[in-house]
Amino acid sequence: MSLAEINARVEKAAKRAGREASDITLIAVSKVQPNERVAMILDEGHRCFGENKVQEAAGKWPDFRAQYDGIALHLIGPLQTNKARQAMELADAIHTLDRPRLATTLARLAQETGHCPDLFIQVNTGEEDQKSGILPKDADAFIAEARALDLPVQGLMCIPPVDEEPSLHFALLAKIAERNGLKGLSMGMSGDFETAVALGATHIRVGSAIFGERVYG
Ligand SMILES: *Cc1c(COP(=O)(O)O)cnc(C)c1O
Repeated sequence: MSLAEINARVEKAAKRAGREASDITLIAVSKVQPNERVAMILDEGHRCFGENKVQEAAGKWPDFRAQYDGIALHLIGPLQTNKARQAMELADAIHTLDRPRLATTLARLAQETGHCPDLFIQVNTGEEDQKSGILPKDADAFIAEARALDLPVQGLMCIPPVDEEPSLHFALLAKIAERNGLKGLSMGMSGDFETAVALGATHIRVGSAIFGERVYG
């Protein structure tokens, strides 16, 4: 699907929900995609991208930043503490603050460097063992903890279980954000971004619908 088509679908979904499309940030998830394909999307004027590995992002984005103005890079994958410094240097936003130890590490580095990307706290709305994220019952306390560390928490992020209706998870995330006074909601991927927009997503993370299937190997 073309970028223009995705933008049109976002606009339509926003309108249906009585929202402004300009309140929704489309993060084009470029992980694993060949650089030529990423450059095509940059040439179409898009500037907001997502990667899920620090190392892959470091190999790609400094060069693109040298060639194109105004790039915003969002890290959306699990973040190891020992990569936090590099992640903070590379990214404009990190969507996967998912545990106390990472919060204290980010806070220490933010103190030291005087800089911190926008942060989203990942909530494991499906309470899946294999997924990272704070459990819903622990979310309020963790949000308070992150705020007490002066971290710039903009919102919450979730990845619903593949075999469940995503709207229930999006609604739960929205509810937790609302009661904590958080505006940002990072939710919705290629298969469900319109549902996410209907439920208040401010950041949608769309990969394969824009770039085509990822070819690993
Ligand atoms: C890969 C990825 C996406 C994009 O997935 P698509 O189904 O290709 O749109 C979104 N969010 C996260 C956290 C991802 O890792």
